[in-house]
Amino acid sequence: MYTIDRKTIVETVKDMFIDSAYHLGDDFVQKLKSSQEKETNPLGKSILSKIIENQDIARDKQIPLCQDTGVSVVLLEIGRELIFDYDIEDAINAGVRLGYLDGYLRKSMVKHPINRINTLDNSPAVIHYEFIPGNQLIIHTAPKGGGSENMSRLKMLTPGEGEQGIIDFVLETVKLAGGKACPPLIVGVGIGGNFEKSALIAKKAIFRKINDKAKNEVDQLLEEKLLKKVNELNIGPMGLGGQTTALAVKVNSYPCHIASLPVAVNLQCHSARKSEVILNGKKINNAH
Ligand code: SF4
Repeated sequence: MYTIDRKTIVETVKDMFIDSAYHLGDDFVQKLKSSQEKETNPLGKSILSKIIENQDIARDKQIPLCQDTGVSVVLLEIGRELIFDYDIEDAINAGVRLGYLDGYLRKSMVKHPINRINTLDNSPAVIHYEFIPGNQLIIHTAPKGGGSENMSRLKMLTPGEGEQGIIDFVLETVKLAGGKACPPLIVGVGIGGNFEKSALIAKKAIFRKINDKAKNEVDQLLEEKLLKKVNELNIGPMGLGGQTTALAVKVNSYPCHIASLPVAVNLQCHSARKSEVILNGKKINNAH
């Protein structure tokens, strides 16, 4: 068996949240730049230039890309050969707390949705777990902005509504969001599963690489169709017009009940901060 010490996890999570608050991924910046070159709407083109300039400033001056430094979302892929003799959730939250305090990032979490007293350290994170073969721990983090999250939606369609129903719901969601979700967007779409599974796979969709494709051909074709249709809405960067409403549409699917067709749409704004780190487990000699 293998393990990873608590300190390594705390420090790693801390660094990931600080780093992603200041930097967008190179592939994402390239996508912004190529979209800016193609954009024909002058206002849309100018806004994309400002977004690109903003990320240059954030990277060079080590300051947050956006004032909203988000809910700390963490996806853990845990190798089945790993064991932990401590509470891993507590370690993740310790990393979040240190990251938001040391990185001078805005603390956006409240203790209760009604009382709304700030936790003052951005904990707790929203953590999802998955098990994988081997002895590695893959940590994915994303500070997820409230504006785009608020415009995300879920609907239980009937199977008869089919692919057209999915397309209509995604377009309706992007239209309703308008500028409030801070486009250009990554549109994460989860289809199938049940109520909660569709939301989870839509969330996982926004963690995918900007240039990757869905795992199966049906989802790939849907991604292409949706991206074209979303960009024909003329919402544009920050909702002020243009063809660049979304940089990508990511579709994840899962088997579902014969009577159901759940669809979840998780919108990711242009401040698409995320990070991924792979930690290798250390062998423990006295464990079986
Ligand atoms: S939606 Fe994104 S870009 Fe807009 S304020 Fe929130 S984090 Fe910032």
